[in-house]
Amino acid sequence: MSEKCETPVPCSGTRAVHAGEERGHWGNSLTVPIAQTSTYVFEDTHAVKAFVAGKNPQIDYGRYGNPTQHAAESKLAELEGAEAAILFSSGMSAVTTTLLGMLSTGHHAVIMDDCYRKTAQFCQMVLKKFGIETTFVHAGDYAELEGAIRDNTRVIISESPTNPHLNVIDLEKLVDIGKRHRVKTIIDSTFATPLNQCPLEFGIDLVIHSATKYLGGHNDLMAGAVLGNAPLIGAIRDYRGILGGVIDPHCAYLLIRGIKTFPLRMGKQNETALMLARFLEKHDRVKRVYYPGLESHPHHDVAKAQMRGFGGLVSFDLDADEAGTLDFIDRLKIPCIGASLGGVESLVSHPASISYYELAREDRLAIGIADELVRYAVGIEDAEDIIADVRRALDAV
Ligand SMILES: *Cc1c(COP(=O)(O)O)cnc(C)c1O
Repeated sequence: MSEKCETPVPCSGTRAVHAGEERGHWGNSLTVPIAQTSTYVFEDTHAVKAFVAGKNPQIDYGRYGNPTQHAAESKLAELEGAEAAILFSSGMSAVTTTLLGMLSTGHHAVIMDDCYRKTAQFCQMVLKKFGIETTFVHAGDYAELEGAIRDNTRVIISESPTNPHLNVIDLEKLVDIGKRHRVKTIIDSTFATPLNQCPLEFGIDLVIHSATKYLGGHNDLMAGAVLGNAPLIGAIRDYRGILGGVIDPHCAYLLIRGIKTFPLRMGKQNETALMLARFLEKHDRVKRVYYPGLESHPHHDVAKAQMRGFGGLVSFDLDADEAGTLDFIDRLKIPCIGASLGGVESLVSHPASISYYELAREDRLAIGIADELVRYAVGIEDAEDIIADVRRALDAV
C-alpha cells in the first residue's frame, strides 16, 4: 500500500512546461520573451481614453504588471489549480501585502506559533502599530485555535508544513473552523509546494508561496506568489499597485524557467529527504527527527491523507550539546551553510544561531529551537552522496 495521498494534484510535468505560455511570441521565440520595460505606450489618445474606460486591456505602467509576469502567473495558477495568481518581489512582500489588504484597524488575526520569523515579526511589529492584534496558537491545537477566534477575527494564517518542526495542519479542520466563524483561511504552502499539496482544493481561501524556494529552485531569485479566487486576487493586485512589491520582468522569466523543471526537482527532493530522514532516525547520535513522511511524526496520518510527498526539508535534534552540533555542521562537505531551502544546492543551518539568534535562550527553547536542532534542506545531489556525507560527519562528532 502506498504511504501517501493518491489524489491527483493539478501540478504535472506537462503543465509545468507548457501552462501559461501562449504560442506565437515575438520573432517566433520558443520561450516567453522578457518584456524589459517600465512603461507601455498608447497608439493614440483614443487608446488612452479606451484604457481608462476599461475597454482596452493593455498595461500602462510596470508597477501594475508585465507580460512576462502574466505568463508566470498563469503557469502557477494552473499548477495550483487556482482561478488566479499574483506574483511579488519576494515571499514576504506576498505575505505583507495580502495581510495589509485584508485587515483594517480593529481587526484581529490568528497565526500558528511555528512560523516564518519575519511573518511573526510583521504581525507583532507592523500590524500591531496599526491597531491590528494577532493571537499566536500552537500549530496543530485546533481547540486553542478555535478558542482564539473573536468577533473581529478576519484571518487565520498558517504554514503547512511549518518551519522548522514540519508540523502539518489538518486542512479540512482548518477550513471547517474558518467557515463556521466566517474567517478567511490562508496557508503558506512554501514547504509543501503545489506538487505535494493543493490547499485550495480543501477550501482554503488563499495560498501563499515564497517562490524563492522550490518554485524558482536554483537559489538565484527572489519572488512570492498568492493564489486564490479572482475577486480576492484582484483586490490584492490593487494593493500591490500601491505598496509596490512587483516582480521584475527578468526575475519573472527566471521563475518561468525554474518552474519548467520544478516537478522533476521536487520529486527527487521528496525522495532524498525521506531517505535521509529514515537514515537519521536509525542513527544513535540522533535524538529526534522531524519529517512528516516518517511514521513517528505526530502528524504523519494527516500528512499521508493530504500530501503526495513530504518535501525536501528534514529537521533533527542531535544527541549532542551546542558545540557538538556546530562541529557536525562544520564537518558536512556537500551542503553549504545557509538559511534558505528548495534550490538545487543542499543547504544546512543551525536555527538557534541564525533565524532565532536574537531570542533569549529560554524563549527559543520554549518554541522548540534547541541548541542541538539542525535543519537540512536537500538539493538535487545524489541521495547516496548526501547520506554518506551525513554519516561521515555524525560518526566523527
Ligand atoms: C522564505 C519564506 C518566506 C519568505 O519568503 P522570501 O521569498 O524570502 O521573502 C515566507 N514563508 C516561508 C515558509 C518561507 O520559507
